[in-house]
Amino acid sequence: MTAPLCVDTARLPLLLDELRLPTVSRLWDSLAERARHENWSHARFLAALLEHELAERAQRRIQRHLTEARLPPGKSLATFDFAAVPMVGKAQILAHAAGGAWLKTGTNILLFGPPGVGKSHLAAALVEAGHRVLFMRTTDLVQRLQAARQTLSLAALIDKMDKIDLLILDDLSYVRKDQAETSVLFELIAARYERRSMLITANQAFGTWDAIFPDPAMTVAAIDRLVHHAIILEINTESYRRREAAARTVQPPPKSQ
Ligand code: ADP
Ligand code: MG
Repeated sequence: MTAPLCVDTARLPLLLDELRLPTVSRLWDSLAERARHENWSHARFLAALLEHELAERAQRRIQRHLTEARLPPGKSLATFDFAAVPMVGKAQILAHAAGGAWLKTGTNILLFGPPGVGKSHLAAALVEAGHRVLFMRTTDLVQRLQAARQTLSLAALIDKMDKIDLLILDDLSYVRKDQAETSVLFELIAARYERRSMLITANQAFGTWDAIFPDPAMTVAAIDRLVHHAIILEINTESYRRREAAARTVQPPPKSQ
């Protein structure tokens, strides 16, 4: 008769910690119990543990990416009222949000419309869990790029941003060339062209973009690259904020004669 194998269970947490397998560490005991009861093979037990580890790892990654994305909270498709923007096809938006196919081909989405019509809301809502996204006000992004240029690390920053599947540049038309050296923005657009997606919101369509880039040639070059593979949506309604405010205003009763 062979002696029973003596497993040093006290060492297991250390080993699993060293291998960074927190889920296996948490579950192995109870799963081993179940495996004994249900006569699982060793292979099945091992596979079950590893599947749990992988599933939780994917979950943790999604959570990490969501935190990193800095999306405005609560702006989802579920809370977006498509009836308020009849020119934006709900089916089209839902298809983009669900498939994420546009992100694989480096397609851009350009969202134009006056303030308050739901551009930022829709931009955040279009993000599908599982992708790496960064939502930024374009003015902040430009500042960050300029700071990087000053320390000669612009290329490194643009490279780092290459890992982001979708860069959301909110309110592009608030960027003004007189406030800053905006060719850094062009460099970012050129670097991502045809490879990595951007979603841009702007109050004004292309006609006024000369105010953003240092010279007209660069404006044309930027627009050219952005629109080459792009879905362009224009929302030309009244501000949702203003409509909501108007609906809340209680009308005074008519004066009695
Ligand atoms: P924009 O970016 O075009 O200026 P926002 O996306 O910031 O507009 O929208 C202004 C506010 O109105 C936000 O609180 C947003 O959630 C809300 N809003 C705008 N459009 C809609 C809509 N169609 N359905 C629900 N909420 C909306
Ligand atoms: Mg906005």
